[in-house]
Amino acid sequence: MDVREKVVVVSGASSGIGQAMAVILAAKGSKVVMLARRTDRLMAMEAELKAAHHEVLAVPTDVTNRDQVNRAVDLTREIFGRIDVVVNNAGIGYFGTVEKLPIEDFRHLIQTNVYGMLNLIQSSIPSLKETHGTIVNVSSVLSKRALPFLSAYASTKSMMNALADGLRLELRTYGVHVLTYCAPETETEFHATTKHEAGLDPTPGGYRRKASARDVAARIVQALVEDKREVVESKTLEILNWF
Ligand code: NDP
Repeated sequence: MDVREKVVVVSGASSGIGQAMAVILAAKGSKVVMLARRTDRLMAMEAELKAAHHEVLAVPTDVTNRDQVNRAVDLTREIFGRIDVVVNNAGIGYFGTVEKLPIEDFRHLIQTNVYGMLNLIQSSIPSLKETHGTIVNVSSVLSKRALPFLSAYASTKSMMNALADGLRLELRTYGVHVLTYCAPETETEFHATTKHEAGLDPTPGGYRRKASARDVAARIVQALVEDKREVVESKTLEILNWF
C-alpha cells in the first residue's frame, strides 16, 4: 500500500507507539485522524503537525464508548471523505497474579483492549469495504506466550489476534486486509501507567531491553506498506522462551 494521501485513523495516538505512528504517517503524506481521551495532548499534536503542513485531525475519543467511536468515524468521513486504514492501537496493561486478579480490573482490560478494538472495527467496516482498506491491530508478543503476572493482559491480546484471524477471512471477499502486529516490549508510558498488584516487583526476569516507540511504529508502518498479514517480533519471543 502506498500510504500517501490515505486517510488513516489511529487510536491511542496521544502517546507512545500511536503518537509515533501518527507522526510517521503524517510525514509520509497520510491524512491522519488521531483518537485518544487526553484532549490537551491530542490538540497539541494537531497544532504541531498542522504547523508542519500535515493534514491531521484530532478527535477526542474513548474507544470503549461506541457513540464516541461512531462520531469519530462520521467526522472523519465528513472531513476527509473516506477511511483507508484503521489502526487499533489504544490499549492498557495489568500486572498481577491470576490468583488475585480482580474481576473489575479484568473487565476494564477487556473493555479497552478488546471491546475498544471491536467498536472501531465495527464502526469503520462499511467505510473500509468502500475503499478496500486495511485494519491494523497492535497486539503483543505476549499474545503468543504469556509471562507470569501478565496473563490477564496477554489474554486480551490473544483475543484480539483470534478476532483478527476470523475477520481477515470474513473480509477477504471485500478486499479488506487485516494486519496483526505483535509488538515487543517498548519504551512508553505504558509500564508506568499499568496497574500493579500490591507487593509485586514490576520488573521480574532479566529481559528489560526495550525497543523505542519510534522504531516499533516505523516497523508497523512498514508492515502496512508491505501488506503483511502478521508480524511477530520473534527476537523477543526467543527471549520469552527462556522463562
Ligand atoms: P501508551 O500508554 O503510551 O499508549 C496507550 C494509548 O492508548 C494512549 O494514547 C492512551 O491515550 C490510549 N488509550 C488507553 N485507553 C483508551 C481508551 N479507553 N480510549 C482511547 N484511547 C485510549 O502505551 P503504548 O504506546 O506502549 O501502547 C500502545 C499499544 O501497544 C497498546 O495496545 C499496548 O497494549 C501495545 N503494546 C505495548 C507494549 C509496550 O511494551 N509498551 C508491548 C506490546 C504491545 P489516552 O490515555 O489519552 O486515552
